[in-house]
Order: sequence, then C-alpha cells, then structure tokens
Amino acid sequence: MIEDKNQSRTSLEQLGEFGLIEHLTKNFDIKHKSTVKSIGDDAAVLDHKSKQIVVTTDLLVENVHFDLSYVPLKHLGYKAVVVNLSDVYAMNAEATQITVSIAVSNRFPLEALEELYAGIETVAKIYNIDVIGGDTTSSTTGLIISVTAIGEVNKKDVVYRSGAKPNDLLVVTGDIGAAYMGLQVLEREKEVFKVNPQNQPDLDPYTYIIERQLKPEARKDIVALLKQLEVKPTAMIDISDGLSSEAIHLCKQSDVGVEIYENKIPLDPQVISTCEEFNIDSTTIALNGGEDYELLMTISQQDFPKIKGNPNLTVIGYITEKERGMHLITRGEQVVPIIAKGWNAMKNEA
Ligand code: ADP
Ligand code: MG
Repeated sequence: MIEDKNQSRTSLEQLGEFGLIEHLTKNFDIKHKSTVKSIGDDAAVLDHKSKQIVVTTDLLVENVHFDLSYVPLKHLGYKAVVVNLSDVYAMNAEATQITVSIAVSNRFPLEALEELYAGIETVAKIYNIDVIGGDTTSSTTGLIISVTAIGEVNKKDVVYRSGAKPNDLLVVTGDIGAAYMGLQVLEREKEVFKVNPQNQPDLDPYTYIIERQLKPEARKDIVALLKQLEVKPTAMIDISDGLSSEAIHLCKQSDVGVEIYENKIPLDPQVISTCEEFNIDSTTIALNGGEDYELLMTISQQDFPKIKGNPNLTVIGYITEKERGMHLITRGEQVVPIIAKGWNAMKNEA
C-alpha cells in the first residue's frame, strides 16, 4: 500500500556488522550530562547523581505488533521509541536515554534500516533523548525491534500505579480510541488494496486517527504540566491496552474500586464518525481499543481546582472503596462492571 520510493538496495552483508552499526548511529548526538559514555564501548556509562532511575523495555515483532505493508519504517522507529517513553512519563519521570536493539533478515536492505533509524533520530530529537547503545543481530524472517528507555525522577515525585485512594478523581489526558480506529481503517484499506492495487484510497476523513495509529506521541508535556500546576497524581499508568484494562491495573495495584462515567470519556469527532461508519460502539472502542499512549491518573479532590478547565485533563470518574467494585455508569445510568478485554482480545473476536 505504501510504495517503496527508494529503489536503491544496499545489502547488509556489504557493510558488515560494525560498519552497519556505525552507519546507523553516526548522527546521534549527546544531549544529557548524565550520559557519560555512549555508543562505542562495551557498555554505556550514566551518572544521574541523586535522582532515582526508571527503566522500561518493549519488544516489537513484525506481524505480531506491526505490519510493514502499511507501516512505514520511519514511523515504526518513531513509534517503537514513543511506546517506551510513554512508560517513563507514566512514572512522572523525565526520559533521558534509550538503547535500541534490532534483529533483521537479509530481506531488509540498508536503505530500510536507514528509514527506521531516521524515525529514531527524529523522536530522539523531539523528546530530547540520547541513544546510548543497543545490539544488532540477524533474524531468519522478520524484523524485531526492542527499545529500552531510561529516565530520572526526584524521589519525592515518582508516581506508582498503587497510590490511588477512595474519593480520588480519575483523570485521563487527551482523547482515546483513535489509534484503534486508525488501525481499523488501515486494515480495511489493506484488504481493498489486495483486491485492487490500483485503488487510491481517500484517507482524508481519517487523518487524525491514522496519525494516532502510525505516529503516536507520548505525553512528556503532561509531566511538565503537572509540575507546573503543582499536582502530583496519587497513581498513574499509561494507556497502551485500553482504558478498561488500565483502570483495572490501577485499581488492583491500589486496592480500590472505580466508577467511570461513559458521558465523560473524551472522544475525537473522527472516532465517533468512524465508529458510526464501522457500526461499532465508540465507548467499547474507548474502553478496549489500545495504543492511545495517553495517561490515566488519579488525583486528590483537593487538587481539582488546579486542573479544572484544563483542556488536556478530563475527569472521567472517581475512586471508590474496593468493595464497591469497578463500574461504568452508562449514559442511561446503568451500572455495568468493567472487564478487561484489551485490544488483542478484541482482534481475535472480530
Ligand atoms: P558487543 O559486541 O559488546 O555487544 P556491539 O558490537 O554489539 O558490542 O556494539 C558496539 C556498540 O554499538 C555498543 O556501544 C552498542 O551499544 C552499540 N550498538 C550496537 N547495535 C546498536 C544499535 N542497533 N543501535 C544503537 N547502538 C548499537
Ligand atoms: Mg552486541
């Protein structure tokens, strides 16, 4: 579907492993004082002084987590990093360094890896991250990419999933469900393309949701905003698997219950219109879709005046005693138990 405009193909064997690593990493500059030694030695050396360090890893496997028939490699590189940064920000930390490990088959020419690394370079620049190392190896079939992100946080600022208390407000950033609906559109166009490769899809009505799928952003800005508003969430998690499953994680770790109001869940108009077109309930998508990379947090009621009216932060419910359970209050004021489906499970159902 997405044409390979770059027709030149340089085989990886021509370069050799070290030549390849050097070629791919030559543009990475160092932005943080905490990076004492970067790429080029047996290990990187970091000095975060008195800060606490957060570390998180994700592994992405071709045809399990991404489909190169509609995901441009540049976007893949970008997204592989963003999903990790999102986990760092969910700890209320600042992301500072990443490592990038790849396994590639000889199906991929150098030019493909250059695209992947162009995405990594862009995201590192935008989020102010040092790329400090990684590993490069071969794979028999597809592409595998693993990113580890490192961040720092003052001990007093770190936010876990486990701190939510009854009566705290449940707050979500941005809007949710868009990335999942973007995926639905891309999957549909892929099927159309298989039948009719000449077909030029009109994707204009879906630009926002497709961008949310292919080029998600992590909420670095929210960590800064919370600091500026002088709000420390009592608990926080990033939304990678859908609101339901993340709310459940948060409640289980905090030993509390929750009530979420259906009519408060923030949805973009494109999500609503695409859900209508696909004949899917938009609340189901918000609850069970995935890959939004927004933040879900709880804040003390006392902090409500500080966040009130902020367009980035929407109160969607409140925390209850554990015994009350976890529920969605529908527009019709029905009380429905929240269950974790996650977007993978939804995919299998379809
Ligand atoms: P080793 O043999 O000790 O594993 P490598 O030859 O794999 O060392 O790596 C050499 C240097 O290049 C190291 O600093 C490593 O972190 C870095 N590196 C290797 N692969 C990548 C990659 N895909 N992206 C970024 N840095 C890499
Ligand atoms: Mg190595």
